[in-house]
This record gives sequence, structure tokens and C-alpha cells, in this order.
Amino acid sequence: MTPINSQEWLKWDEAYIWHPYTQMQLVPRSIGVERGEGAYLYLQDGRRIFDAISSWWVTLHGHAHPRIAHAIAQQAAHLEQVIFAGFTHEPASVLAKKLVEITPRGLDKVFFSDNGSTAVEVALKMSIQFWKLNGTPRTKILALEHAYHGDTFGAMAASARSPFTAPFEDMLFSVVRLPFPEPGEDRTTISDAERLFLATLEREASTGSIAAFIYEPLLLGAGGMLVWRPEILEQAMNIAKAHGILTIADEVLTGFGRTGTMFASDRMAIKPDLMTLSKGITGGFLPMGMTLASSALFERFLSEDRHRTFFHGHSYTGNPISAAAALASLEVFEEEPVWERIETIVKAHETFGSTIARKHGLTYRQIGTVAVMERRDHTGYLSTKSLEWGAKALERGILLRPLGDTIYLLPPYASTEEDIVGAYEVIDALLE
Ligand SMILES: *Cc1c(COP(=O)(O)O)cnc(C)c1O
Repeated sequence: MTPINSQEWLKWDEAYIWHPYTQMQLVPRSIGVERGEGAYLYLQDGRRIFDAISSWWVTLHGHAHPRIAHAIAQQAAHLEQVIFAGFTHEPASVLAKKLVEITPRGLDKVFFSDNGSTAVEVALKMSIQFWKLNGTPRTKILALEHAYHGDTFGAMAASARSPFTAPFEDMLFSVVRLPFPEPGEDRTTISDAERLFLATLEREASTGSIAAFIYEPLLLGAGGMLVWRPEILEQAMNIAKAHGILTIADEVLTGFGRTGTMFASDRMAIKPDLMTLSKGITGGFLPMGMTLASSALFERFLSEDRHRTFFHGHSYTGNPISAAAALASLEVFEEEPVWERIETIVKAHETFGSTIARKHGLTYRQIGTVAVMERRDHTGYLSTKSLEWGAKALERGILLRPLGDTIYLLPPYASTEEDIVGAYEVIDALLE
């Protein structure tokens, strides 16, 4: 490809591209990115910016990590894609084995798809079909207030109703909504919100009509970066299990170390029946979704009768290049000091994030590598602050994308303490 002048392609972007989550009248022009390296993006205008949100929560180790880039190039030249019904290949098989080994026990089968939303659709469809095949149909889904599970119809239905879902309101199946278990100030005694959450769950579970409970373990992402306690989730899972309800841990965001353990579900003694993964799974290089299921669930679909098949698949299911990228990302975990890097980020947040928040009278919360600060009277996603702060931060060399007026950092593991401190200095200036 002969290089094209960046002024030229930026014009073509403006002429031809409809960007995601973007009001194209307010933001007609996008920022051109030339290349990425580690925690940094290099813009077409020569600036270098710190990617404090891992490019929408996907970039795991860092941009253009050489090991992952190399694995992708090698795999592309070897086997780039093959039909995944009746056929298979080495990268998907090795990846499935490794993920079954490192995910919570009991998740023994891997179903591939393309992204987080499809991984969620698969988990929901498996749950509903499971109960049909069981001969005891259950069709209701339990989901949390403020949940976010993706943008396809089933995932939207499970997600909280919001400006994102409003145009489709009449077409979404209804779910049983559980109040968010907001922890109390001291985080050790049970709060009123936590008690209400558990009581509502118990009441709904005992109706016997709930097929599955889907939740983002310990961190609700797009719904406002809300943190909840493992003790409460564990009690919730116990209630669900006691009533035979399938539990679906949506770890699309929380997987691969973001919350300080490999998976957020690692903190609970009781394990989910289904788990969804995406975002960081390929190190943030290529799209891939994955739904892990228990053997018991898988076996309910086994039959001589072809009607009892899970009829779901996507053209690129189990793509070899994505699988090779995911394997390379797991190798980075094995061979580089990833947990030390994570610890550096955790410590930097603890020290500097809480200080800046206190200085400006904001609430502060943190789970692992994710730090969040917000005003006590914060408003919703469409707060004008998000665009204003995002633009100002960018002028100072930091990529932030506040959720309304909730500011958060979710940096790639290549970030140094100086990078994090620099981001907090910019946030400090924004809040002045
Ligand atoms: C981002 C996200 C999804 C959707 O993933 P996409 O790849 O954007 O479709 C689902 N669940 C959670 C928890 C997410 O954060």
C-alpha cells in the first residue's frame, strides 16, 4: 500500500465513516492515529498520548506488543481462517485447553464467537435452550440495575434501560431487574442496598421461573464503573444455585487481570455455570468472543435428535489468527512480569487517585487496575462534562473517556507509575 497523506485520509473519514457511539453532528471529525506502542498512541499530527482507557478496555499488555504482532503475522501466513463446523485447528484447540485450565473450575467447554455481545447472546440462548431441553422450560433472566452486556438485542435486553436502549424499548424482552448492591461506607457490614438486592433475588428465585442470572462480577463497567463486594456476589450465587438458576459471569471487561485477579470470579468460592470473555482476550489485537460452559450444561444438548443442537455460529467463529493472538497474550502472562506491572498500577491508583479525589471532594473507588472518581451529585451518561473533559485531557496528552461525569482510569499493563501520576496531574488540572 503506498502511503497516503494523512490530511487526505482524514477527509475521507469525515466523508464516509459513521463512527460508533458518536453524535456525528457534534463530533464530525475524528482524531487520526498513526501508530501505537505500549501505553501510548502516536497521532497523525505528531502528538503522543497516554491511552488511559486501554482503547475502550481492550488493549491489555500494550499497543503493538511485538510478541502478539509476530504471532498474528505467522498465523496469517499459515492458516488465516477455516469453517469451524466439522473442522478445527491448532490455535483454537490449544487456546480452549488453556482457558479451561485457567478459568474457574467447572467451566469445561468453550464456544467461540466474535465479540462480547455475541458471547452474551450465546450464554443467554444456551440457558434458555437448556431449560427447554430439560423438559422444564424457564424463560426469565435476572439482571442487575446499571448492567451493561452489549449492544445486540439480547444483550441490550439484559442491560439496564438507558439512552443506549431507549429507541428499542418496545422490542426488548423484559428481564427481572435486581437493585444494585451498593456497598456501605465501611464495606464490612451489610448495607441496606445489599440487603435489598439479596432479598429481591431470593424472592424472584423462589418463583421457580428464572432460567439464568447474568452479572458483571464485582465491577459494572459501562453502567458507571460500579464496584460491588465479593461476599455479596457469593451469597447471590448461593441463592441462585439453591434454586437451580444458571449463573452467567460476564467477564468481558473484568477478565485477564483487570480487577487484580486473573478473573473477577476467582474471588468467590462458588463458581459460575457460564462465563463470557472478549475485550482483552486477544491482548486487545483482534475481535474474539468466548462463552465457557459447564459439562452439565453441555451434556444436556447431547442427543441422537438433531433438533437438540445449539444452532448458533458466526462466519468467523474460532478464527485462527484471533486464537493465535490470544495464545500469545497468555504467553506474555507466563513469560513477562505482568503481575508486577498490574501491582504497580494498583499501587499508583491507591496512592495518587485517592489523594486527587479527596482534594476535589470526589468519591473514589478502585478495584485492581480500575480507578474511579465522581462527584456525589453526578448525573448520567449524557452529561456534557464527558465531552468537555475528554477534549481537555486530550489537549494535555491523555486519552480519557468519562462516563458522563464519572472519570475513570483503566490503563494497559505497560503503563508505568509515571504514566499514571501524569494522568492524575491532568485530572487534577481538569477539576480545578
Ligand atoms: C463491552 C462489554 C460487552 C460487549 O462487548 P462488545 O465486544 O463491545 O460487544 C459485554 N459485556 C461487558 C461486561 C462489557 O464490558
